[in-house]
Amino acid sequence: MSLISQQNLTVIKKETSRVNDVDFSNLTFGKEFTDHMFECDYKDGTWLEPTIRPFGPLTISPGAKVFHYGQAVFEGMKAYKDDQGKVWMFRPHENIKRMNRSSKRLAIPEFPPEIFLEALNTILRMDSEWIKPGFGNSLYIRPFVIATQSGVAASESTEYKFMILLSPAQAYYKGEVRVVIAEHYSRAADGGVGAAKAAGNYGAQFYPTNLAKEKGFQQVIWTDSNEHKYLEEAGTMNVFFRINDTLITAPTSDRILDGVTRKSVIALAERNGIKAEVRKITIDELLAASNEGSLMEIFGAGTAAVISPVTAFSYKDQVRQLPQLEDSFAMRFKNELMGIQYNKAEDPFGWRYEVH
Ligand SMILES: *Cc1c(COP(=O)(O)O)cnc(C)c1O
Repeated sequence: MSLISQQNLTVIKKETSRVNDVDFSNLTFGKEFTDHMFECDYKDGTWLEPTIRPFGPLTISPGAKVFHYGQAVFEGMKAYKDDQGKVWMFRPHENIKRMNRSSKRLAIPEFPPEIFLEALNTILRMDSEWIKPGFGNSLYIRPFVIATQSGVAASESTEYKFMILLSPAQAYYKGEVRVVIAEHYSRAADGGVGAAKAAGNYGAQFYPTNLAKEKGFQQVIWTDSNEHKYLEEAGTMNVFFRINDTLITAPTSDRILDGVTRKSVIALAERNGIKAEVRKITIDELLAASNEGSLMEIFGAGTAAVISPVTAFSYKDQVRQLPQLEDSFAMRFKNELMGIQYNKAEDPFGWRYEVH
């Protein structure tokens, strides 16, 4: 292994890459990791020795607070390669800012944005062979922070580990997405951590999602925790409804994550002259639109799947189908977003970021 000290980062390079051992035509999402990972520890009030080193296991005390109190946050972003071999990210500053907002809510110290960005640039350069060109291929980027101080006293940790992992991904196609509208369980509550990308939000979703799966559905549309009246998110994605030609999505709140894909879709809608309303939408409004035939589409929006059209939804054990459209808003937004992400289309918003 060779040790190279860069501006701020220490880089320990893996001698031989594993990239040729991986079958890129048959990837399971999130299973395979690249040659390197980024790691930086927080101790005595500062982040110390940011380091990129070969991907491998960690040694952490079983007393680490993350195992006992779930003090952990994460992010999800992607890198793309264009036909000239240039590598791009999509609005990375948004994720960097959001990670620190999440951290703040979980009493985790914020991570310096400039080191975050330098770490992303450096590790993506080092592992760029793992990013395959072609529409749909990408490198999923998983930054996260965990509380590493050993001790089961119920208070926030004084030590943390910030990491970035990279995982090659193919187009995320889940097939048909049928959803159940939540009547009992909630993803998030007012005053809670729903607006943060807290690890525990996901842990709490698995059980109600499994109940939906047992009934033949793939995801849950989460409703507000107070009355189960308002439609808020779809699985781990923000959710959009199209009634006639108007797009509706709920405003962000304590319970709704401020998704980068969500705000990009709203901006694209406005540019395309599509009316986009950011307001609360009730189950009653959805059912009424479905009854009168004006409910055209429901789709989820998030980094992993980009846009994920819903084909049917269930409420109080009644299943309703969505119409199958030739030219859906969902596909239009997906193509426009991917065109920008893969450097195939103009980027009037300045969303693309070239890795250097
Ligand atoms: C990550 C996430 C999203 C999507 O956010 P993007 O920035 O678009 O990837 C939406 N909802 C929840 C609950 C999430 O955790």
